Amino acid sequence: MPEQRPPKKAPLNPKRTPIRENDPMERRGAFVEALIPYTREEAILEAQRCIQCGKPWCMDECPIHQDARGYIKLMAAEDFDGARDLILRDNPLASCLGDVCYHYCEAVCPITKRGEAIAIRHLKQAAMMYADPAKPYAPVVPTNGMKVAVIGGGPAGLMNAWILGQRGYDVTVFESSDRLGGLMTGTIPAYRLTDETFQEDMARFANLPVHFVFHAQFPKELSLDDLQLEFDAVFVSIGTHKSRGLGIPGEDLDGVYAALNYLKESKRGERRSIRPRVVVIGGGDVAMDSARSAFRHGAQEVTILYRRSREEMPADDQEVKEAMDEGVTFQFLVAPVRFLGTKRLEGIELQPMELGPPDESGRRRPIPAKTPPVTMACDAAILAVSQEAEIDLLPKDLEVKLAKDGTLQADPQTGATKRPGVYAGGGASVVHAMAAGKRAALAMDAYMLAKKNAAA
Ligand SMILES: Cc1cc2nc3c(=O)[nH]c(=O)nc-3n(C[C@H](O)[C@H](O)[C@H](O)COP(=O)(O)OP(=O)(O)OC[C@H]3O[C@@H](n4cnc5c(N)ncnc54)[C@H](O)[C@@H]3O)c2cc1C
Ligand code: SF4
Repeated sequence: MPEQRPPKKAPLNPKRTPIRENDPMERRGAFVEALIPYTREEAILEAQRCIQCGKPWCMDECPIHQDARGYIKLMAAEDFDGARDLILRDNPLASCLGDVCYHYCEAVCPITKRGEAIAIRHLKQAAMMYADPAKPYAPVVPTNGMKVAVIGGGPAGLMNAWILGQRGYDVTVFESSDRLGGLMTGTIPAYRLTDETFQEDMARFANLPVHFVFHAQFPKELSLDDLQLEFDAVFVSIGTHKSRGLGIPGEDLDGVYAALNYLKESKRGERRSIRPRVVVIGGGDVAMDSARSAFRHGAQEVTILYRRSREEMPADDQEVKEAMDEGVTFQFLVAPVRFLGTKRLEGIELQPMELGPPDESGRRRPIPAKTPPVTMACDAAILAVSQEAEIDLLPKDLEVKLAKDGTLQADPQTGATKRPGVYAGGGASVVHAMAAGKRAALAMDAYMLAKKNAAA
């Protein structure tokens, strides 16, 4: 008999199936989605580029260990229902992440050595879009008699509630505002994430023993001591809602805005316009969203001012590209010295900078150049420097700290605070916040079971 040879592997295709975009100059006039999702056929083609690595680099890199290799394989075989179910096994916010995840998985995909990484985030989006909606993933869960309180209904709190709800805990999420989703739904502009997409994800909580209480402000309406009397464990996930200022003269002038407030007002439909010449201070994604929103509110010129160079800018490359395509201009190596004007903002004084040796973040530290400050005329300034958690709300005995990224930091492995039964966490991206919620949920589950067994 002739020897049977294994089928030949298809040659590696280094080129990504293109992702189409709406015309930048047309889209910057409205809050419509900037990127056009893959069609079903494009998604299959892209999934077929995956080489199904022996070691799942993409899954290992994902903070919630989403099995990207597994769902991409199913999509390559045109099984979108199977792919969707596999995604939802680990991820209740999959539709949102299909739109806004920073796709850390793509950075480690080995295909980058020969070309472009698999478009994992766009494939997740396609799996969620093209799976049969008549066959939704719908766990129905009996309760186990134990109760959990989650303070804050952002991605960390929702992930925590979803995992513990699936394990039968009766979970109540206390949210200070009138909506869920935290900064993700409250600030990310609708051209990147719509409310409808979030509602698709929230529908998956319907069969779980998870309840939501709105306008519940911790600790004003909810003291931790009272919660601990009623609930077996508590997870504190209040996000990073305190904007850090620059601490320079003129910050209180009319026309100077904190980015979080500006974006929250915009997302709630309370802000529809801005003055013509806008500067945005910062180099992260919040700065990109502020700058792009300003055009959509009618600005004529939008300039991002950043104190380091393009190489050190932390914003996602795709967000920077989309901002540049829409006409946002960038001035690098400038630091604000003061805002100018009497009552109303009229301009900004900027110190030219140069790069010195690296700082503790590994990026080269900006230091003032030997050239004098320059002034720039502007009518509105949006400060997108950074934000942090309102840590003073937490009782001191929890011994929770602020991490470098401004999030709450308790035990890094479990989210446990120094008070038994109280956990805390959050993250500087949606998926990192979800990972914090997951870590705490697993530890809370173990804690509550141990307590129950000890009492039995
Ligand atoms: C403009 C902008 C764009 C972003 N873009 C992206 C992106 O593209 N991709 C990405 O991955 N990440 C992005 N992020 C980051 C991401 O949104 C956050 O990392 C994530 O939402 C953090 O989740 P969290 O649950 O820790 O906190 P939050 O999302 O802040 O949720 C905390 C919740 O707690 C509530 N709360 C606060 N204080 C109290 C209190 N005292 N009592 C009761 N409830 C309270 C809040 O109302 C909120 O609902 C962006 C952030 C911003 C600001
Ligand atoms: S790392 Fe890239 S090529 Fe490897 S399994 Fe994941 S998506 Fe496929």
